[in-house]
Formats: sequence, C-alpha cells, structure tokens
Amino acid sequence: MFELETLIRPNIRAMKPYSSARDEFTGEAQVMLDANENSLGSAGPTQFNRYPDPLQRAVKAELAELKGVEPAQIFLGNGSDEAIDLLVRLTCTPGGADSILLLPPTYGMYEVAANLNDVRLERLPLTADFQLSPDIVAGVLASPAKLVFLCSPNNPTGNLLHAAAIAEILRGFRGLVVVDEAYADFAATPSWTTRLAEFPNLVVLQTFSKAWGLAGLRLGMAFAAPEIIGYLNKIKPPYNISEATQQHALAALAAAPHFEELRQQLLAGRTWLAERLPALPIVAEVFPSDANFLLVRFRPDATAVYDYLLRQGIVVRNRTTQPGCAGTLRLTVGSAAENETLLAALRAFPA
Ligand SMILES: *Cc1c(COP(=O)(O)O)cnc(C)c1O
Repeated sequence: MFELETLIRPNIRAMKPYSSARDEFTGEAQVMLDANENSLGSAGPTQFNRYPDPLQRAVKAELAELKGVEPAQIFLGNGSDEAIDLLVRLTCTPGGADSILLLPPTYGMYEVAANLNDVRLERLPLTADFQLSPDIVAGVLASPAKLVFLCSPNNPTGNLLHAAAIAEILRGFRGLVVVDEAYADFAATPSWTTRLAEFPNLVVLQTFSKAWGLAGLRLGMAFAAPEIIGYLNKIKPPYNISEATQQHALAALAAAPHFEELRQQLLAGRTWLAERLPALPIVAEVFPSDANFLLVRFRPDATAVYDYLLRQGIVVRNRTTQPGCAGTLRLTVGSAAENETLLAALRAFPA
C-alpha cells in the first residue's frame, strides 16, 4: 500500500522550512523594506531588484489552464533536473538502506542524482526492444525502492513505455512512480497528467527544454498530488525560479501558436530522417521514436561513424556503451538544413 508519509525522510517531515520575506508578506506595499533588496534599482538594463515570487503563482496559473490541472498540483524547478534531485532527496536518507529504481537504458541524471545524494541504485533493464514486460513489472512491484523512474518516451531509445504496464506499476508499487515526460510533446498519446486524480503516488515530469525550445532558460515542471507538491516546495531553494525566467515563461506560454509551429516542424523532420536513414548501407536499424531524436544502430562500427561525423563538424550522441544500445548513436532532429547536412554526411561515409 502506498502511504506518502512513510516515504518522506523523517528529518524532512520534522523540519521547519525557510520562511522568506516574500512568504511572510505577499501583498503590494508603498514601502518594501523587509528583504534587504535595493530600492534604488538594478545594475544593467532591466529592473530585477525585487525577489521573485517563491511559488511562481502567475506562471502556474497559466500552466494549470494549459495542462488541465490545479496550480497546487504544479512544482516548478530550475530544469526538471532540479525536480529529479529534490525527489531523491525528499524520499531517500543518504548513506542508508533507501534506494531508487532505474530501468536502463535511460536518462543519466537519475543515477547522478542518486550518486550525488549517496543513495543506493537498483537496476531492472528494459527488454531488448526497450519495453516493460510482465517480468519487469513484477520486479518493480517487488522492489523496496522509495522511487522508480519511468522515462516515457524514453531517452535515449525514443519509445513510449506500454501504458498498461505503467498503470500496473502505479497500482502496485509502494514508492513514488516518476513518469518523466520530457518528450511528451512529440508523442501522440495523452500525458499521464490526465490521470493524476487516479494515482496518489504519480509524479509527472515535463520541461520547457525540448519542444518549447527553452533549454537555456532552465525551467522544468513536476505534476503530482498537492501533498507531494507541498513537500517539494518545503525543500526547494526559496527563490529557485528567477524573475527573468518567470517573465519569459509567461511570454512563451502566451505564444502557443509558435510552440505548435516548432513542434510540427520537428515532427516533420523526424519523419523525414526516419524515412531516409534505413536506406543507408551503414544503418542497421532505426528505432521507432515518439521523441525529437532517433536512436540508430550503425554497422559495422558506430563509433567510427561518430568520429567521422565529428570531423565533419556534426556532433551527435554516442550511446554505444549504454545497456542494450551497442552500436547506436542518438541523432537529435534539427532544422531542415541540419537534417539534410547530417543525411548527406552519412551518405558520404567512406565504406
Ligand atoms: C532533456 C531531458 C530532461 C530535461 O531536463 P531539464 O533539466 O528540464 O532541461 C529531463 N528528462 C529527460 C529524460 C530528458 O531527456
């Protein structure tokens, strides 16, 4: 049985969070002398002399509408990487018996967050076609881990994990189930945010770094029950999202048509590459993708292709050492011109 309180580190349950000046007074006053800010203004071209809203209320109001959730179900982080780190720290006492569960091959930051926090790792590899199987689901349900990360669509493989298997994990796992949907905007299936009411142990991660084109801004989202969001807010750095980021996020959310245009172009680029790559003699397999990248198996030597592309000034991601990914490179879908340059270079690979 899932019981949130038993998953939270005892010291975090007991601690009193930092109460900032902006928590204690949230209104508009004539004279703001409570936070040791500079009332004269800012160095540089833009006024940032006031601390930002620690709970990012304006951004969450817009996001709540876009995603069909309540503001109290939203956490914003300095990238979703901050949410990953906070979820590990929220549930796992460092250096002890607590563990997190990963399903490799998958996103590298889960392991880094565990290592940084001195938290044990358990691994249950995905099947050869990078899926959940009944055996793997049974393994997850039997695990004592505090947290399982399910990346869907998965990085670096590009595929969605079977929804029925994820639902089974959500129903039977005792810990938190984190579904990382960094690439959800490129998939045709509904987000797991639509099922938050059903699963009190579900945390959905999304990001502005991919389809929104805002990787440099550093803004990630976690969606979960208000109780979980409350704990994340309790342990986050008080002003984790800058005023510049909050203002830019509001502007981006108001530009939904541009977002949709970017998304459609990337989807078209993915199709364009996926249709042409299999014809190349050096390509052994193009894995199906619901993301903005393609995992491609090259023959006879993927690393030789990788090094060759580098010499042509084209950098892709070498995934040959990842479990189950021998011989593969991960190719991000770029602009139409970049996709053409990549394909032309691969065509010209000296046999
Ligand atoms: C890119 C990516 C993220 C995004 O991280 P940010 O910190 O929001 O930039 C998260 N999860 C996965 C699986 C990713 O590939």
